[in-house]
Amino acid sequence: MPQHYRSPLLSALEWLDHAFLAAGEQPPQESIYNHQRHSPNVVLDSDALPVKSREADGLIGTGTRPVAVYTADCLPILIADSRQRQVAAVHAGLNGALGGVLINTIRLLCERGATPDSLSIAVGPAIGPCCYELGEERIERIQQENPNDLAGLIVFSAQQQTNPNAVRAQAVATTQGVWFDLPLLAKRMAMREGVPEAQIELSQICTYCMAGERDSYRRNTHFDHGYQQRFSWIARTG
Ligand SMILES: [Zn+2]
Repeated sequence: MPQHYRSPLLSALEWLDHAFLAAGEQPPQESIYNHQRHSPNVVLDSDALPVKSREADGLIGTGTRPVAVYTADCLPILIADSRQRQVAAVHAGLNGALGGVLINTIRLLCERGATPDSLSIAVGPAIGPCCYELGEERIERIQQENPNDLAGLIVFSAQQQTNPNAVRAQAVATTQGVWFDLPLLAKRMAMREGVPEAQIELSQICTYCMAGERDSYRRNTHFDHGYQQRFSWIARTG
């Protein structure tokens, strides 16, 4: 049975509803989502119809229709602005995160009347540092190119952490690379934009070693049967 995840932080806000769905679960019928391209692009819901007509990875909800993203191992990030009652959904893998999609979404929300301290940010299930191996040359390139001045915020370790909450085998090293913490990068980026640390929540659920049986995770890409996307959605209700 699929199990979706709800953020305690967002659940405390009475004016919205949200969920990080399990693989194969469908978002609400009226949900708006984009043609995702690992881009830094952010659009408003009013400019994003029909569904999947825009190439963008950040989507701001200005009305009451749910906005959604679909992910495999990338970060699904849901954002609530309690000042203007806007919401946002962001799809951020490593390339999208470094390209600035989360930063751009936070800044556009603030241009539209939010303030960093009015934002609550929930980072949903994604590949964790327990299972996300990156080649050292990739790290070196980030450090050299320093996209969006983010090189100083990346967190990685030469040692793979044991995940005590794993329900299946963790990823096995293949490149003698490093173990990269993508959720923590998102948190540090949001903090640099001024969002208070207490208003940023990481699910601590790794899609590789902690997801349900039918959920998508990196190792499924090694098999022909493929994987199913997970939808995450958020909507203003009041
Ligand atoms: Zn893991």
